[in-house]
Amino acid sequence: MVRKRKLDTRKLKQELLEEKERLEEHIRRLDDRTSGRDPLNRDVAARDFDELGGDAALDTAERGQVAAIEENFRDILAAVNTALEKIENGSYGTCDRCGKDIPKSRLEFLPYATQCAKCRKELSG
Ligand SMILES: [Zn+2]
Repeated sequence: MVRKRKLDTRKLKQELLEEKERLEEHIRRLDDRTSGRDPLNRDVAARDFDELGGDAALDTAERGQVAAIEENFRDILAAVNTALEKIENGSYGTCDRCGKDIPKSRLEFLPYATQCAKCRKELSG
């Protein structure tokens, strides 16, 4: 495959790895929060939720919200991992769906984008 352009994948990889760490940290915290084990931040959590019913436990609605946020983080994390794989195998920056180059401006805004804006839009309806 002939490379049509040169992307600074070293910098992008660094950004993606940092993003990955951030996401994993977020997910870990959300996990701790929903499962009630969070020895280090228990006091903070208890304070947060005091006003909502006097119990540190999350109610069903909040648990659902946290689960939705966590799912969102996991989706992004999956995309970050895919992007990292694509850097490794040299296909980074091309659209998964149509195979065209993803505009650099889009990659700078969304380093884990694996589809061009057009395909993304079509896929999400
Ligand atoms: Zn595309």
